[in-house]
Amino acid sequence: MAIIRSMITRSYSSIRSLRVCVIGSGPAGFYTAEKMLKAHEDAQVDIIDRLPTPFGLVRSGVAPDHPETKIVTNQFTRVARNERCSFFGNVTLGSSISLSELCQMYHVVRVVLAYGAESDRNLGIPGEDLRGVHSAREFVWWYNGHPDFCHLAPDLKSTDTAVVLGQGNVALDVARVLLKQPAELATTDIASHALAALKESSIRKVYLVGRRGPVQAACTAKELREILALKDLYVNIKQDDLQITAADEEEMKNNRIRKRVFDLLTKASSSSQTRPTSGQPELHFTFFWKPEKFLESNDKTGHVGCVNFEKTTLKGSAGSGSQIAVGTGQYEDLKCGLVLKSIGYKSIPVDGLPFDHSKGVVPNIKGRVLSSSDINLTEDGLYVCGWLKRGPTGIVATNLYDAEETVASISEDLTKKDPTPEFASGREGLLQLLENRKIQAVTFSDWGKIDSEEKRLGSLIGKPREKLTNWNDLLAIASK
Ligand code: NAP
Repeated sequence: MAIIRSMITRSYSSIRSLRVCVIGSGPAGFYTAEKMLKAHEDAQVDIIDRLPTPFGLVRSGVAPDHPETKIVTNQFTRVARNERCSFFGNVTLGSSISLSELCQMYHVVRVVLAYGAESDRNLGIPGEDLRGVHSAREFVWWYNGHPDFCHLAPDLKSTDTAVVLGQGNVALDVARVLLKQPAELATTDIASHALAALKESSIRKVYLVGRRGPVQAACTAKELREILALKDLYVNIKQDDLQITAADEEEMKNNRIRKRVFDLLTKASSSSQTRPTSGQPELHFTFFWKPEKFLESNDKTGHVGCVNFEKTTLKGSAGSGSQIAVGTGQYEDLKCGLVLKSIGYKSIPVDGLPFDHSKGVVPNIKGRVLSSSDINLTEDGLYVCGWLKRGPTGIVATNLYDAEETVASISEDLTKKDPTPEFASGREGLLQLLENRKIQAVTFSDWGKIDSEEKRLGSLIGKPREKLTNWNDLLAIASK
């Protein structure tokens, strides 16, 4: 609290500087803050996050065996340590503070929303709420130690088969984690509860199921190569599924990634063994199947036991992404005890913010939020960045270009504004309100205590860090 008080006092001196609040401390939020601080020497940027920890998807989404992708947190740490930047975790837009309250505190450029996609697309088919059917996001958050999902406890012991729906990079991540030797994960920052469950897992077969064909598989070549290279893996791809049409040829001509992925799948299908040996981990790429319903297990009431699929065929013209899957009226069942729906993340709307529910984004032009009352106007001082702006696609670095575009819009808009901003209570107003509401804001130096503790715990067991996975522990260490 003493640090927060001194922050309140210190920032009164710069009361007329440009005050910006960035909501969300994932890649989109940090890149926006970085670009804002660089572009505007007088800017003061406050980043708030609902979690007590920074870095969003880099901490909770990136797979534990992809440490190289997490190196970007060094760059974000430098941004957070800039004297014109602050981080306040454990502050939730909506419940801790409303958007309209923030808009009153931060004038000129009020708020850049970069809080990502914390929900999932749904299939909307029968049986989706059976136990054992999870979204891939929940599973990823569970193995990455997200404090909202430390109790997920997916049942990995009473089945040998998992079905992953979708063939994007998230699907490949969850399939890889299920099939990889746990010993190879033991030296990563995977949550201990997940490592223990994976060590005891009986899952040996993973079906990666796509509603379209191998030319339309949404994953990228590097990630596909990685899973195909797993130790002692049996890979099954039906030759029939690799028969392509003129429209597929056309799609591949227009998209190098699709071509590379298709070539890798073709190579894997011809070089793989004819049948698995006993106990060997199996990865089955299954194409042209769309899920129709989830059926209850005969042995375990309320638990999934099978997925019913309809065989599909592709319809539509050639050209990138324009062929769609349509049902053929033929159905097939696939027995399994775990289903991970990896069909895309979805952003959550907040009160007072225009939202396009079908696309799951905030309608915007180059990051400027479009007015909800008149689509020819933009909301004064409101901007978006990241998945909330463009939908849940792209890698961490995509957010860099996205942030550049949003900050360019902000800079352009600022040239049309009064160079002497009106009074804005900014950081001290925010902190005062949080104090009044008895909300424990976690500063970046508080995060430093969590970070040190996690690294210390990790060093005891040969891991880069042992994540603290529940809210009480995180807040207790932060307040020490
Ligand atoms: P994604 O790439 O959009 O893949 C979604 C998958 O779900 C597609 O195969 C899609 O098939 C399928 N799908 C969507 N709706 C469906 C439905 N109703 N029924 C059946 N299947 C359906 O999404 P993601 O895998 O969640 O990844 C999100 C972004 O993060 C991507 O840009 C990804 O590359 C990135 N990412 C990158 C890495 C990495 O670089 N290592 C790791 C993880 C994530 P259709 O194509 O037929 O729609």
